[in-house]
Amino acid sequence: MTNENTLLGTGELSGFAALGITGALLKATHAAGFTEPKPIQTQAIPPQLEGRDIFGIAQTGSGKTAAFALPILSKIIALGTKRRPKTARALILAPTRELAVQIEDMIKLLAKGAHVSTALVLGGVSRFSQVKKVAPGVDILIATPGRLTDLVREGDLVLADTKWLVLDEGDRMLDMGFINDVKRIAKATAPDRQTVLFSATMPAEIAELAKGLLKNPIRVEVAPHSTAAAEIVQGVVFARTKQKRQVLSTMLADEAMKSVIIFSRTKHGADRVTKDLERDGFKAAVIHGNKSQNARQKALNDFREGSVRILVATDIAARGIDVPGISHVVNFDLPDEAESYVHRIGRTGRNGMDGIAITLCDPSENSKLRQVERIIRTKLPIVADHLGSPDPLRNPAEKNERFEPANDRNGNGRRDGRRPGGENKGNGFGKKRFGDKPAFAGERKPEGAKPFKGNNKRRFGGKRPAARAA
Ligand code: AMP
Repeated sequence: MTNENTLLGTGELSGFAALGITGALLKATHAAGFTEPKPIQTQAIPPQLEGRDIFGIAQTGSGKTAAFALPILSKIIALGTKRRPKTARALILAPTRELAVQIEDMIKLLAKGAHVSTALVLGGVSRFSQVKKVAPGVDILIATPGRLTDLVREGDLVLADTKWLVLDEGDRMLDMGFINDVKRIAKATAPDRQTVLFSATMPAEIAELAKGLLKNPIRVEVAPHSTAAAEIVQGVVFARTKQKRQVLSTMLADEAMKSVIIFSRTKHGADRVTKDLERDGFKAAVIHGNKSQNARQKALNDFREGSVRILVATDIAARGIDVPGISHVVNFDLPDEAESYVHRIGRTGRNGMDGIAITLCDPSENSKLRQVERIIRTKLPIVADHLGSPDPLRNPAEKNERFEPANDRNGNGRRDGRRPGGENKGNGFGKKRFGDKPAFAGERKPEGAKPFKGNNKRRFGGKRPAARAA
């Protein structure tokens, strides 16, 4: 350890040095600004250095990339350059291209000054240049499963020398249908390899996969299963699908929304939201699976650098995006899978910064909202309600009708098919500005109320909704 201290010139024992990280790697880790290890790193690095397999439950933002990369780098550096053509000594599998690019960036940062080669094998970009890159052999290969399978099948890559295998975001690989590719790839690697599996959640299939691939793993966990990070303030805005465009534009006019990611359930929806935003005078970048890799990377770079403050994304494309300082996440619609909600909102509130996550909910999405609330074990406070609830004081006959699905033949909350008066009035976000945390930090939280069940009194504690009174 004395060496490291001398190297750093601090005279103090470094946190990473205490975990077993040494030499150039320790220097680069500090140069990257990582002085104190994150909890996942403290838990996962020492056992990996001892050669143990790891089963980690951690989300993007926890520091998991360095947690698996540092031990691999440490071992590869210690072993020196020993590569055979068309082989990879370590393989990191990621579900999306963006995540793979991010992982490579992190590895390059941490490996600065060390002679470690990296390569990316991803779909959507030239296969030829990838084949060329792996031809002499590579130390660390970061890949998405589809293109990798293709290269292995064609004999352009051999995995028999791969002694380290990392599966990042295992649950997303599962969702994206990569699980059989992953199993086949793992089978082609060295039987005595060391394996790390990270997943943000732990569905039964992941536990099953872990059983098949990991040998006597150490289990590490930093965030409780499906629990959203504490520093994210969350809220729901009730609005009909038709109204969402206007609601969104009103929100985005608020300067407090400095850096916003807007999630759409579908690619088509993401394109439509982007177009509508542009028509409403906002500059927005869009990222989804139908875009070319170059377009996706450009969108991400523009957003990261701040030349656009709005990024519209689908769940899959946004997975693993690590852009610091995202102030708001807006769910333009609810995700099909409730677990995706946790990933979506996890794009904000990172690295100890505050974040705000707002979900726009049409009455047809009520059951999805309830599923989300079940998995995050929280009732989302209501930020605003644009469903046009009639004023119970002026028209008592209507007051119980609005939230009664049985009466709602027109799907608009009224039997006569007309929109109730007062809908869409005011700024829609209560007295306080949207970016003001206290406006939805719980002050209008309807105690024990279920969205869209019962009447206004129950939902708003006997008062008119503040948003409508404003
Ligand atoms: P990850 O979960 O790997 O995507 O990491 C999330 C973010 O945490 C990245 O932006 C990293 O640069 C940052 N990070 C990782 N480890 C540390 C550390 N020990 N200290 C400070 N920042 C870190």
